[in-house]
Amino acid sequence: MAGTTTGFDPAAIRADFPNLHREVHGKPLVYLDSAATSFKPQVVIDTLADSYSQHTANVHRGVHALAEEATDRYEAARTAVADFVGADPRGVVFTKNATEAFNLIAQSYAKQQLGAGDILLYTEMEHHANLVPWQLVQPEAGFELAAVPVRADGTLDLDTFAEIVRTGRVKLLAVTAMSNVVGTINPVAEMGAAVKAANPEAVVVVDGAQSVPHLPTDMTELGADFLCFSGHKMCGPTGIGVLAGRLDVLDAMPPFLGGGEMILDVHLFGATYNEVPYRFEAGTPMIAEAAGLGAAVRYLTDAGMDAVRSHEIEIVEHAIPALHDIPGVTVHGPTDPKARGAAISFVVDGLHPHDIGTVLDREGIAVRAGHHCAKPLIRALGKAATTRASFYLYNTVEEIDPLCDAIRATQAFFEV
Ligand code: PMP
Repeated sequence: MAGTTTGFDPAAIRADFPNLHREVHGKPLVYLDSAATSFKPQVVIDTLADSYSQHTANVHRGVHALAEEATDRYEAARTAVADFVGADPRGVVFTKNATEAFNLIAQSYAKQQLGAGDILLYTEMEHHANLVPWQLVQPEAGFELAAVPVRADGTLDLDTFAEIVRTGRVKLLAVTAMSNVVGTINPVAEMGAAVKAANPEAVVVVDGAQSVPHLPTDMTELGADFLCFSGHKMCGPTGIGVLAGRLDVLDAMPPFLGGGEMILDVHLFGATYNEVPYRFEAGTPMIAEAAGLGAAVRYLTDAGMDAVRSHEIEIVEHAIPALHDIPGVTVHGPTDPKARGAAISFVVDGLHPHDIGTVLDREGIAVRAGHHCAKPLIRALGKAATTRASFYLYNTVEEIDPLCDAIRATQAFFEV
């Protein structure tokens, strides 16, 4: 296996991921679906097992040794995650996934703080997780929803964005840092600064579900008041996500879910609430999963997020021309590898994405086919679905050839 010009060693990385070494339909697995969920390195799997085999206890309440260990591991994971994205650990709330993080902000911030005359601005590129939670609270709160259109090249129409911002009425901007469909990296910091210049009260919610796993991230540089992401897309377990928020904003927010842990005191007909982040972590949290996510961010930090990014740029540099070279294939999104991530959506003339996905699967190649939970974007591209090949730190340039060969074989099979 070739190394890379970045000094990054994919062979060593690959040895850490047991799931990469299995076969599918008798073929070596080529896993190109990390934008849906990533594989987990052995250290994350071991951390989960160790949590259950050695440190089982509930957090924050016990006085015994195991409870202290579990609490220490849980809080150490919070600090590791905070460091990974440049956040204050007190502003890191563990949620079930990115989706729950958006719902928390919608219920505890947007519904309380936005009203008639305010605009909540999102984009046509968003995942449903960054659309539906706002739509749910909009009728009651009475704010207006507006969307930045996507251009044919898979980038945001920043002229229309500027026009909407000029009204001075945008009170919340919700935007993805990286598209899960077309890979576009959006100018989030510039967009946030423009919104705040026009309305100093505005807050910026960044969807980091695709960017945090793949790009070095610093919340302050991003200008994010809130940053939402999921553990399972960044080498961590399922069942845990993160809402990283600005402390002063979180402090002023009422709880989202009620129950144990999120209270200071409870009376029969009323309660007072705990400080952040505990106010937003009702009930027994995902203890083992938090420890697993802590191990995942340590793993990614050791691999080096700059190296991960360079490695993925190198893959995209090869993958996009290779796909373009196949007659009948159209790749969506930016072609400049530096302007995009490694989630690559394409369509093939005369073939349904599900047929492509099925034939590729027979070759051991796992890709995604469908609307990728971004139906407005897929409609804007004038499609019903796309096929998406998404690469991560453990993928290699060598895996592009089998992908392209299998697409050609699909064309031959269906005689297109
Ligand atoms: N936003 C983006 C850009 C995503 O790709 C995803 C997952 N596909 C989500 C949000 C939601 O993540 P989860 O399903 O883990 O909550």
